[in-house]
Amino acid sequence: MIASSEPDRYVVIGNPIAHSKSPSIHASFAMQTVQHIDYQRLLAPLDGFADCVQAFRSAGGKGANVTVPFKLEAFALATQLTPRALAAGAVNTLKFDGEEIIGDNTDGQGLVADIVQNAGIVLKAKRILLLGAGGAARGAILPLLEQHPAELIIANRSLVRAQELVALAHQYNPDAASNSRVQAVPFADAAGIFDVIINATSASLQDDLPPVPAGVFASHTLAYDMMYGAQPTTFLRYAAGQGTQTRDGLGMLVEQAAAAFQLWRGVQPETQKILADLRMALAVSAPAPVSTTAPEPT
Ligand code: NDP
Repeated sequence: MIASSEPDRYVVIGNPIAHSKSPSIHASFAMQTVQHIDYQRLLAPLDGFADCVQAFRSAGGKGANVTVPFKLEAFALATQLTPRALAAGAVNTLKFDGEEIIGDNTDGQGLVADIVQNAGIVLKAKRILLLGAGGAARGAILPLLEQHPAELIIANRSLVRAQELVALAHQYNPDAASNSRVQAVPFADAAGIFDVIINATSASLQDDLPPVPAGVFASHTLAYDMMYGAQPTTFLRYAAGQGTQTRDGLGMLVEQAAAAFQLWRGVQPETQKILADLRMALAVSAPAPVSTTAPEPT
């Protein structure tokens, strides 16, 4: 039964923030698990993230999700960091606990939950190719290695950024990293067939295709794009043209939210219905497809 007292308050903080689906996801989780919470969007000024968080906390806020462009500032603001937040160097979930601000990063857990639980793909002993070495890729490294893949190959335009991720893998999870071959390569050097290829570049935001060699795809390969939308991304259209299975990042969004909810409330929400509802809402909002032709790599 819902209590009559004031609800515990949470927000998602970003700039911009109007597009965020997090309030509807958390409202659905709260209803399902009978948690008495209020979850709103909070637009922080670009130069005012820390002040905004502290004001919300002083007003009794219990926690916050953090999105673009504040994940690094949230990392700096936290007084306690989980190992995966340390490895990611970025925080997407804050929990206010007395004097402490606990910083976590649930993006990678969300990615792995979507691939393993929702798509039913076992990552143990598999060859994984991770495209990109930005914030999202960085957050994925530890959760992916915890699945003990045979190899985790990180391809990025700027090789030095991919090499930094390899160093982080060894620093924060030496056991997992020593069980898997973790390597940084330029895109052109990603060789052989991969079982799972994850696009963690932001190329899809510009309808671009990361320059991934065609020879890495096979019919059993799962091509995963962290980005999601009403239409398949350029990467997913290209991968489908190579005959692979494809999946976008909508499930990752829902699963990272579920992990944050679990951290705050101590209960694990069920995710399938909200994922199906969001998928349907996206489909309804979809404009007519502009092209059915698989794009060529640039
Ligand atoms: P960042 O800006 O931190 O990193 C961008 C990365 O993309 C870099 O590695 C960059 O390479 C690479 N890149 C950009 N353009 C191209 C291109 N044209 N070709 C090849 N590589 C390119 O972004 P994020 O890591 O924050 O986000 C990455 C993606 O993940 C976005 O699409 C975002 O929407 C998605 N995301 C999804 C989430 C979800 O819940 N589903 C959660 C978080 C992110 P370089 O280093 O060489 O510049």
